[in-house]
Amino acid sequence: MRKIFSLMLVYLLAFPITACGRNRAGETGTAGGVESIPAIDTMESVRETGTAPGDTGSEPEAEEETIVKAVFDFERRTVMLNSGYEMPVNGLGTYSLHGDKCINAVKSALSNGVRLIDTASAYGNEEEIGQAIREAIDEGIVQREDIFVTTKIYPGSEMENPVQSIQACLDRLDIGYVDLMLLHHPDPNDVEAYKAMEQFVEEGKIRSIGLSNWYVEELTEFLPQVDTVPAVVQNEIHPYYQENDVIPFIQDLGIVVQGWYPLGGRGHTGELLGDSVISEIAEAHGVSSAQVILRWNLQKGVVVIPGSSNPDHIRENTEVYHFSLTEGEMARIGALDRGEKHDWY
Ligand code: NAP
Repeated sequence: MRKIFSLMLVYLLAFPITACGRNRAGETGTAGGVESIPAIDTMESVRETGTAPGDTGSEPEAEEETIVKAVFDFERRTVMLNSGYEMPVNGLGTYSLHGDKCINAVKSALSNGVRLIDTASAYGNEEEIGQAIREAIDEGIVQREDIFVTTKIYPGSEMENPVQSIQACLDRLDIGYVDLMLLHHPDPNDVEAYKAMEQFVEEGKIRSIGLSNWYVEELTEFLPQVDTVPAVVQNEIHPYYQENDVIPFIQDLGIVVQGWYPLGGRGHTGELLGDSVISEIAEAHGVSSAQVILRWNLQKGVVVIPGSSNPDHIRENTEVYHFSLTEGEMARIGALDRGEKHDWY
């Protein structure tokens, strides 16, 4: 029988966490707050029947499902995923970083306390990311268990041959396991590719899996076809493209939302960081525009992965926990939404 939703609430409440690792049984308390919410309509057809084609119906009914909306823990700067692993809520994006620039950016981030690194097969820098991480481990800056590494496989030939593509990511990174692997975009073979990722989870080579560039329509079609609820959906989100309809839809499924292009993306950061509303709010708090935007995301429950090769920016982007935006300030930034996508996907 297909069981779509795991008992996430029970899981989250029963198992506390180690840094970026699976909860240890036998301990008490929770690291990330959780909010139990009713299941939503998109999964209703699956829940109502509880059976997949071919089921005899003789098996016991599926356990009652509870969807849990993850809540950020601002003390630990993490969120508990539905997979049972803890993910940092601010990280480093590495799109367009290559060679020594990439290695130095990753090591600078790890030295400054960043514990989430986002890469992808398509970025062509997994080898550099892996090298930077191994060097940071050798130099005593971090331990493997302290950090959370995300990568992605791409549509087309990679998703047509998902097992080889996933293994190739693991080989290029060469850091033992991958914390989170995403399908980079929808693809005709995405369900099969997702099932391949599930198999790697079974084998302990990947800890959590998810999707990138999946919106309401795509999720509604995709989710009933797979067994594992994605832990994360990573989409474009910034003040000029807020996805205010998509974010709660995803979060209400117990899936953590991660935003790419948090600062608007290269070529757009000048306008966004110079926006008068954001600049005014930044001045009021004595912080930078980038910090205001990152904080706005975090307060919306959106994980941020700003890209940077500048050590000062990398450090600045971690300093977003000593101030908070008022409801009024959140609303002022909310009013900046233009539905203005800065990339095609
Ligand atoms: P971004 O984070 O919105 O902006 C990066 C730009 O902002 C860089 O030019 C950087 O310049 C600048 N910057 C960073 N911190 C700053 C600060 N504190 N003050 C001023 N400028 C600052 O765009 P992105 O890097 O393209 O996107 C973020 C990450 O999202 C990517 O790296 C990638 O990991 C991910 N992503 C995913 C997808 C997907 O399809 N899933 C698509 C695009 C991106 P400096 O280097 O000079 O700091």
